[in-house]
Amino acid sequence: MHETHLIDNILKYLKNEESKTRRKIKKIHVTLSEFGAITAQHFLEHFKEVTSGTKWSGLTIVIKKVKYGPEFEITKINFK
Ligand SMILES: [Zn+2]
Repeated sequence: MHETHLIDNILKYLKNEESKTRRKIKKIHVTLSEFGAITAQHFLEHFKEVTSGTKWSGLTIVIKKVKYGPEFEITKINFK
């Protein structure tokens, strides 16, 4: 799976969270597996590319590397 697909899914999820809560997201916390195929830098490059010129380009992303668990997970969302 290419990261662009992953990021599309993340943005779908975030849009859904915003419409559900009627609040704007300012920050997300994610975990990346140390043993996964995606590095933090690679993920951020793709995220920047996909969200360039959209309202998501200003989103703060806090990445934590984990030894165990899924390759990628959103663990927390902070609203404005
Ligand atoms: Zn890539």
